[in-house]
Amino acid sequence: MTMDERETDNQCSYCERRFKRERHLALHLGLYHEESLTDTQAEAYRAAREAERHELRLFRLKALVTLVLLYFGLLMAFAAFA
Ligand SMILES: [Zn+2]
Repeated sequence: MTMDERETDNQCSYCERRFKRERHLALHLGLYHEESLTDTQAEAYRAAREAERHELRLFRLKALVTLVLLYFGLLMAFAAFA
């Protein structure tokens, strides 16, 4: 399979935009062509949206943990050296 064929796999059938990832195509379909979606496409959009939301939540949690660790790390360093 060539690069071109692989890219066409994630091409929008309504406006011919191409996406690197299948999930991005599913999100695009839901956002720009909502009224012409098939049941399968609507279901893929819901799944993709849910996956994005989950990833965002995970990212926020990691950022929070990093900040807390950094805060206590600095506090310990301050207590040890001050
Ligand atoms: Zn499109």
